[in-house]
Amino acid sequence: MEYQKNQYITLEVEDLGSEGEGIGKIDGYPFFVKDALPGDIIRAKVMKTKKNMAFARLEEILTPSSTRINPLCPHARRCGGCQIMELSYDAQLAFKEKKVKNNLLRIGGVPEDVLARVYDGIIGMESSADENVPVRYRNKAQFPFGKNKEGKNICGFYAGHTHSIIANTECYLGVEENEVILETILSYMEKMHVEPYDEETGKGLIRHALLRKGFQSGEIMVCLVINGKKLPGQQVLVDMLTKIPGMKSISISVNEKNTNVIMGESYEVLWGENVITDSIGSVQFKISPLSFYQVNPVQTRRLYETALSYAQLTGKETVWDLYCGIGTISLFLAQNAKKVYGVEIVPQAIEDAKQNAKLNGFTNAAFFVGKAEEVLPEFYEHGTVHGELVEDVDASAKSPDVIVVDPPRKGCDEACLSTMVSMAPSRIVYVSCDSATLARDIKYLREHGYELEKVKACDMFPNSVHVESVVLLNKKKATDFVEIGVDAEDYYSIKEK
Ligand code: SAH
Repeated sequence: MEYQKNQYITLEVEDLGSEGEGIGKIDGYPFFVKDALPGDIIRAKVMKTKKNMAFARLEEILTPSSTRINPLCPHARRCGGCQIMELSYDAQLAFKEKKVKNNLLRIGGVPEDVLARVYDGIIGMESSADENVPVRYRNKAQFPFGKNKEGKNICGFYAGHTHSIIANTECYLGVEENEVILETILSYMEKMHVEPYDEETGKGLIRHALLRKGFQSGEIMVCLVINGKKLPGQQVLVDMLTKIPGMKSISISVNEKNTNVIMGESYEVLWGENVITDSIGSVQFKISPLSFYQVNPVQTRRLYETALSYAQLTGKETVWDLYCGIGTISLFLAQNAKKVYGVEIVPQAIEDAKQNAKLNGFTNAAFFVGKAEEVLPEFYEHGTVHGELVEDVDASAKSPDVIVVDPPRKGCDEACLSTMVSMAPSRIVYVSCDSATLARDIKYLREHGYELEKVKACDMFPNSVHVESVVLLNKKKATDFVEIGVDAEDYYSIKEK
């Protein structure tokens, strides 16, 4: 049957797509419906049809799924942040586990029996009894400012896939202090007649507020991103904000460009410190408004502890930590390794990493700025980084015991993977925020002498569709199969049986 735009259909939703959209089929033809959940029977309006699929809009839930819950946040559907807040937490975790497993099976070509053996579960997050899902887990939030239709100053969040701002100073993913801070900024703006930035005209001053709180330290940072060099009546704002307990740092960051990038290139302190301090486990970090820092510290600690246990360090090992950011994983590893080398593309992050190493008294960590896929091959082939000989490296740097990678969503470049294989570490620990590219890279590593040993998922972003994973790959031992006289594939298939 042909479907027409604006036609109404009744649909039984069976599955959840990777972006959290409900999927149901009529005579084998799939409809994708935002906000619909598996188990829902819905009435939907066809919005767009394609050869192999169609998009429809949820009009009415005729029979709700048993996994459907009332979301805490009244904005859950419109907001771009939480795609699956209406799904019970158990079902959220099951969805994420399935996503990771399916990618490993389909994209990674991991045999089902291997996956069954190595899959190590998902680290879910606890929520308190009066919440049905984990909330208030984010230590960082960035809120845009603008005007509503009536011309009133507002601050809130972008509706999904748009730049229109919905007024809401109370996001359940952030800390409770955020609301007070945002309301304070709005009342300062009213008092001092300060205008919010308008993307269309390029006029107006206040663009975004970046808010951060150290969960261990309780220290709070506010950084206002402004389209201008100065904040009129800044002392008024400072006086208002410093009444909030925990306030440690107030700054501005100038961004006068017509761009989607939120922060400016630098920042200027108006009051207090230029950084806040926080710790993950027993490692301390200084965090500036421009630093990358994991947003869910509770789950980050669990993720890093898993990565550390997979690395199986005894204190004698040489380790590379590629895509190291401000050295969070590197310093976690440095607690138990002989030497850790970190590589990261953002120069400021490497500066932070070096400072953080000093702050914690680690003398066994070294950091290099650059692309992992350039630094690692150059170092392996020539012993240099950016053409310069690297001092302070052990002989073992070219043949490390462990390589840890934590790449962005696009995964590792093949030049990086092939050098990793040449360096032949006993273990590779792969931390990933995108299980599709993880699966692709695992396929490469499995084809080049590594065997999948453990896979664990970790829910760093409850109520969103994102899932983090950590994977351990072991180097296949040549002696294992030489002695037995079969090749590696045969050997492992024998061993698995
Ligand atoms: N391991 C860190 C950061 C992980 S996020 C932590 O847990 O905090 C991924 C990091 O990879 C970012 O800091 C990003 O700047 C960096 N990055 C992106 N592309 C890169 C590349 N080609 N080479 C090295 N680092 C890269």
